[in-house]
Amino acid sequence: MKRIGVFVCGCGINIAKTVDVKKVVEEIGHYPGVVYATDYQYMCSDPGQKMIQEAIEREHLDGIIVAACSPTLHEFTFRRASEAVGLNPYQCEIANIREQCSWVHQDKEIATAKAIKITKSIIEKERLNDSLSPISVFMTRRALVIGGGIAGIQAALDIADSGYEVILVEKEPSIGGHMAQLSETFPTLDCSQCILTPKMVEISHHPKIKLLAYSEVVNVGGYVGNFNVKILKKPRYVKEDLCNNCGECFKVCPVVVPNEFERGLGSRYAIYIPFPQAVPSICTIDADACLGLFPLACNKCKEVCEPNAVDYDMKPEIIEETVGAIVVATGYDLLPSEELKEYGNGRNPDIIDGLHFERLLSASGPTQGVIRRPSDGKVPKEVVFVQCAGSRDPEKHLPYCSKFCCMYTAKHALLYKHRVPDGQPYIFYIDVRTAGKGYEEFYHRVSEQEGVVYLRGKVSKIFQDGDGLMVWGVDTLTGKKVEITADMVVLATGAVPAEGSKKLFANLKLACDENGFLSEAHPKLRPVESLTPGFFLAGAAQGPRDIPETVAQAGGAASKVIGMFSQEMLLHDPIVAVVDENLCSGCKICISACPYDAREFDEEKNIVRVNELLCEGCGACVAACPSGATQQQNITDDQIREMVKVVLGE
Ligand SMILES: Cc1cc2nc3c(=O)[nH]c(=O)nc-3n(C[C@H](O)[C@H](O)[C@H](O)COP(=O)(O)OP(=O)(O)OC[C@H]3O[C@@H](n4cnc5c(N)ncnc54)[C@H](O)[C@@H]3O)c2cc1C
Repeated sequence: MKRIGVFVCGCGINIAKTVDVKKVVEEIGHYPGVVYATDYQYMCSDPGQKMIQEAIEREHLDGIIVAACSPTLHEFTFRRASEAVGLNPYQCEIANIREQCSWVHQDKEIATAKAIKITKSIIEKERLNDSLSPISVFMTRRALVIGGGIAGIQAALDIADSGYEVILVEKEPSIGGHMAQLSETFPTLDCSQCILTPKMVEISHHPKIKLLAYSEVVNVGGYVGNFNVKILKKPRYVKEDLCNNCGECFKVCPVVVPNEFERGLGSRYAIYIPFPQAVPSICTIDADACLGLFPLACNKCKEVCEPNAVDYDMKPEIIEETVGAIVVATGYDLLPSEELKEYGNGRNPDIIDGLHFERLLSASGPTQGVIRRPSDGKVPKEVVFVQCAGSRDPEKHLPYCSKFCCMYTAKHALLYKHRVPDGQPYIFYIDVRTAGKGYEEFYHRVSEQEGVVYLRGKVSKIFQDGDGLMVWGVDTLTGKKVEITADMVVLATGAVPAEGSKKLFANLKLACDENGFLSEAHPKLRPVESLTPGFFLAGAAQGPRDIPETVAQAGGAASKVIGMFSQEMLLHDPIVAVVDENLCSGCKICISACPYDAREFDEEKNIVRVNELLCEGCGACVAACPSGATQQQNITDDQIREMVKVVLGE
């Protein structure tokens, strides 16, 4: 019989307040197989770990149970401490008597009895544990970054600067993301393009970065350390190595369409460059807008293209790459104004969103930075800014705060005042959130010194009223109804996950929260990692965030990738499913139950095998297997049966 030691943690008063730890030790000390039991205030502390290590050596323990907090917090700590004194780390188990016991009970007697049961059941499990070793895997030291906004750019540069190759995939013709559309950035008001462009250029010249713009990831197979990625490179109909962006083709293109980079406020030709600083700096033919490529209807751009870069025969291309780690940085989009019925369903050209306003403010925008209202080009003298347009509205729209709108609305009102000194900006707000360095000071400057009128309350309706717009709202501080005749309204519409990301995340098997943003492995301790090994998160794909936070997080994701690549081999947890070939009937039920594609059918033997590198030990296949042929290492049916017996008091 194994010699088992039990170590009960008081966790300050987290556990000790509702669980009588001394009583647990006394009871457990008499349990069969337990040769040593003790308690300590903080088992995770250095003296606590030393106490465990000394006991392992002194009492010749074959297995230990630490009755403490959730295994997600300290299982690794205690397993590492055990291993350091020669005990196989998989002979160390955690009995969770905090989250699943002391925190959910008030009655000490009930909590203590439950803590004893939990600990005994884990002893039964440990008794049948095998000694295991991590599975070591060779890894490819190249990274894939999906999304070329500031998050993806920063992550790619940080990884590449450490000497590792990076493939950066961006779905649009140019990298830059939303930051490229911004005029000036809060709170310092530095020009967005001026701080972004050097980084974009660095991407295009970096010897370790392969940029695949106008491309999308269509499939990811394999496993952490060795992902096989299929990337669809869409045809630009312009050869990247030949186009010199001379602009001659624009002069002859007969098709003019709204420019999406300008959010429809400006126009472009069917052959175009999204914006002057675009990277890569090459033209793209918009096949949907072009008069016709198949069959060819016009040919004008090709005729004037001196370097002969136009190539109507270009086809979509699938590029295959192997990478060890993937950073997902697909960013956000704004909630379409069409969904906001109370604010005119996006039908009135003078009710615009924040990104439209950024383009009106931008010196390189459609009005060269002169603020003109879209309907008639008039300089608006009364502008109403509406915060939380769709955000913090669980009944009708998005339940969450979009985080950057309070600050960019303050910025918008200030910049409007600078451009139109005799104009009057009004801001409707629910409350103003300014958590960030220098943010509160910026808000005070805008609200107190710049002539901006802040009105606390929601706007109930906006509608056309003669030449202008009528804005109905309430000032909840005075309790009075407010009516403002405005020339233009700017909605701070809520941020939502980027278009197409739902499909991408499902394809990559990445967990999302209820709003469709990527979920992190742990909200506090692992904020840049996904629960799916090998995937790291950066930027607004995880939830709305401003540029400083995005850059910091992208750096964090990059450093995780670099940390992973600096290891000699990748170690995979051995708690995986195994198949008893004699019992397996080859029914294949486990193949559809496995969310990680870790199951392969062996035609020759008519059995199903487990790819232990893909298996994440979730147990879905074990539950699905009708014959019991599939078992999970160290969580076998026999172990569970013994644990249940303890719980039922048998
Ligand atoms: C009106 C407005 C004003 C703002 N002003 C400021 C400011 O002044 N200061 C500040 O700090 N913050 C500001 N922000 C916030 C800022 O825009 C974000 O912090 C920043 O853009 C987040 O960067 P990101 O890279 O995470 O996302 P994004 O900028 O959204 O970039 C994501 C990139 O991923 C690409 N992508 C998406 N899906 C895929 C896919 N499937 N495959 C490949 N590529 C894909 C996109 O095309 C895009 O290039 C403002 C936001 C708004 C709406």
